[in-house]
Amino acid sequence: MAEPLLTVEGLKKYYPIEGGVWRKTIGYVKAVDGVSFEVFKGETFGLVGESGCGKSTTGRALMRLIEPTEGRVVFAGQDITALDKRMLRKLRKDIQMIFQDPFASLNPRQTVGQIIEEPMIVHKIGTKAERKKRVRELLEVVGLSSAYADRYPHQFSGGQRQRIGIARALAVDPKLIIADEPISALDVSIQSQVLNLLQDLQEAFGLTFLFIAHDLSAVHHFADRVGVMYLGRLVEVAESDRLYASPKHPYTKALLASVPVPDPDYKSEGEVLQGDVPNPADPPSGCAFHPRCPFATDHCRRVRPELKTVEEEHRVACHLYA
Ligand code: SF4
Repeated sequence: MAEPLLTVEGLKKYYPIEGGVWRKTIGYVKAVDGVSFEVFKGETFGLVGESGCGKSTTGRALMRLIEPTEGRVVFAGQDITALDKRMLRKLRKDIQMIFQDPFASLNPRQTVGQIIEEPMIVHKIGTKAERKKRVRELLEVVGLSSAYADRYPHQFSGGQRQRIGIARALAVDPKLIIADEPISALDVSIQSQVLNLLQDLQEAFGLTFLFIAHDLSAVHHFADRVGVMYLGRLVEVAESDRLYASPKHPYTKALLASVPVPDPDYKSEGEVLQGDVPNPADPPSGCAFHPRCPFATDHCRRVRPELKTVEEEHRVACHLYA
């Protein structure tokens, strides 16, 4: 097996809850609660779950855009969690992010050319003339005209703005791209175009992706492996095709059952999800999914299941597979 490019071990992000007259810490919101996974060079690892499950916090904590509470993140042999600010800034060149809302993530007062050039200036890459040339090349790489460099973000559609965000991420030749719900703010008709672009870029430049999404169907064809998160923890990790063909965790089955399928004969074995994600400040005892799970037993209510290998390359956290 190839060496992982990224190894995340026991990552936690807890936010203190303050209360009382003295504003003492009376508890924690465990947004990410002991998440471990690897991403191998050239692959796409999909991280999926409903909003509030901790997937975006995981993406931000692992590159220390927010400081993790605990855990270790090793990227290309370097322990990110142990780096000082200067080293961290250098390493950020190799890990770039694409955000959900392309409009909010682009400075409206900068031209598209300035936006794409900025990371190259920050990381001292090339002369001014070389950077301008690279901006033009990158615009074409993401399917936009190089003549757009002098325009401003508001002059573009949502899909075009996401392409600009992708060009900015590519500007410093990153080794890993964390794409945080990159298509969920776009019109359905545009989503597949942006997904296809990301897939083409991955093939052309050998990129590695951590692809965060709330919709399992969005990652099916793009991700090589998928991790399903529920209330701050991974509940199932498997190869993408295996996960879709034979999901094991009742939550994954329910997520798949909620994806509309255009085949009237298709019968999903999962129950459609009932209720909302519980409050992470007051998570259910035992298996956090038990209030929504049709198979929950007393044992599930008392004992939290660990993520265990149940088949080759297939890990599940559920007592049904103990
Ligand atoms: Fe359901 Fe129990 Fe499995 Fe949790 S451990 S998913 S409650 S069967």
